[in-house]
Amino acid sequence: MHTSPETLQAAAVETLARLDGKTLSPKERAAIPPQEMPSQDPRVRRGNMDEVATGYTPEMARLEAMRCLQCKNAPCRAGCPVNIDIPRFLGASAEGRFDDALATIREASILPAICGRVCPQETQCQQTCTLGKMLKDVNKSVAIGRVERFVADRELSLGGRDSVEPRVKSTGRRVAVIGSGPASITVAADVAREGHAVTLYEAFHKPGGVLVYGIPEFRLPKKIVADEIDKLRGMGVEIIPNFVVGRTRKLQDLLDKDNFDAVFIGTGAGLPKFMDIPGENLVGVFSANEYLTRSNLMKAYDTANAHTPLLRAKKVAVLGGGNVAMDAARTALRLGAEEVHLIYRRSMAEIPARAEEVAHAQEEGVVFHILENAVKILGDENGCVNAIECLRYELGEPDASGRRSPVPIKGSEFTFEVDTVIVAIGNESNPLLTHATPGLATDRHGHIIVDENCKTSLDRVYAGGDIVLGAATVILAMGEGRRAAAAINRLLEKQ
Ligand SMILES: Cc1cc2nc3c(=O)[nH]c(=O)nc-3n(C[C@H](O)[C@H](O)[C@H](O)COP(=O)(O)OP(=O)(O)OC[C@H]3O[C@@H](n4cnc5c(N)ncnc54)[C@H](O)[C@@H]3O)c2cc1C
Repeated sequence: MHTSPETLQAAAVETLARLDGKTLSPKERAAIPPQEMPSQDPRVRRGNMDEVATGYTPEMARLEAMRCLQCKNAPCRAGCPVNIDIPRFLGASAEGRFDDALATIREASILPAICGRVCPQETQCQQTCTLGKMLKDVNKSVAIGRVERFVADRELSLGGRDSVEPRVKSTGRRVAVIGSGPASITVAADVAREGHAVTLYEAFHKPGGVLVYGIPEFRLPKKIVADEIDKLRGMGVEIIPNFVVGRTRKLQDLLDKDNFDAVFIGTGAGLPKFMDIPGENLVGVFSANEYLTRSNLMKAYDTANAHTPLLRAKKVAVLGGGNVAMDAARTALRLGAEEVHLIYRRSMAEIPARAEEVAHAQEEGVVFHILENAVKILGDENGCVNAIECLRYELGEPDASGRRSPVPIKGSEFTFEVDTVIVAIGNESNPLLTHATPGLATDRHGHIIVDENCKTSLDRVYAGGDIVLGAATVILAMGEGRRAAAAINRLLEKQ
């Protein structure tokens, strides 16, 4: 049931008026109602690309932060991959000291407006929250990410107090950063802050990595990513788009001929996996990467202004259950599909997408086919998709991942009509750069092997993010970027 932002705000104002200025016991804090995130009405938002969650008001942010029990052992902090001092930032937010709250977050994270929106908090900081444990429901943990988003957005809405960092005196050292996703943005900022010259090479025409080409506008407005990129430019970082390292220029040439002192590789995991089933080469079958890139990066949804073609689908099947699958399904709705069917071979308990994204997809009308999987895509005489054949599954014993494995039910095949199939079953690392770089050690999945300082097998070459971890998360990519930048800065200090 959707509650209007106005109703949520009226309740927050009333509750805050009752509690403001009082010293609250842990029991009284725990009794404050969790502040729901205001959002667009599902019936309206499935027809537009605007952000779904519209964000807390100051009253909601304060109340939510007041729910924090300020535990001495701060288990939330241990759950945060970059170890933000969460009790301190929530304590400041509860008192309405939002600038202090943001400054606390910034000690550990450079992308709070982004992480506040896309981090899987329910499996990180909010999973370990004492309040959630007390109330026996992770959804009733303090909504740390929502408060983080509020304090970051507030600064942006006030004009970005520290949006331009002063340039520091140049050391004369030069660092090349390959790719422009969250790992690379972090490295570029942390290295530039030390006065080293940074050049960032991006294969696409626009920097930002998955934040720009993968995650849709309705979850992460591109203006926020553009602001972060502008901050890098303001710090003196040179950004060179349309430049594929390994093709346009070899990595070793950056060091030997272009006189870079160090290189960071943050090329991500942009190679889509396919199902390897009959019919995957029919017209109307997309990888989620292609579908989302056309819509997000190439603005296919903006039919009045963009010339990017994208099949206008009526009945869509999306294969997979992760964030990428949810994004593809919800994008298809917004591009005008009448029916979107999400096909996932395990149960709802195993679905890997963030709970909030699953709930939003359900509210918007995506039909979930649980414990089913595609076995064949069928086409018409023109080679275009016209149906999909699926099989039903039941759950068996846990597999290597610890999740119960799906076991096909014999004879349970069924077919239904679709005109588009989007395959969203995961991504692998792009082999282009690693294959073109002799001596760069990778594991059997093609991930670059690094030591504890993100140093690769090559001298002066570092790597981090999805190209090392496999398809992971924004915050983990950022954490790796932080570690790599610290090691690069140490290396350059010695030279
Ligand atoms: C659709 C989608 C939704 C997601 N949703 C979430 C979410 O909700 N929450 C979350 O935490 N994570 C999410 N993720 C995962 C998250 O976005 C990634 O883990 C993260 O972006 C990885 O960052 P990165 O810096 O390693 O690389 P990326 O963001 O992948 O950026 C790599 C960049 O390198 C460029 N590149 C590649 N090769 C070269 C080359 N040879 N030369 C120059 N440039 C090159 C690429 O074009 C790309 O721009 C999602 C991923 C996808 C695909």
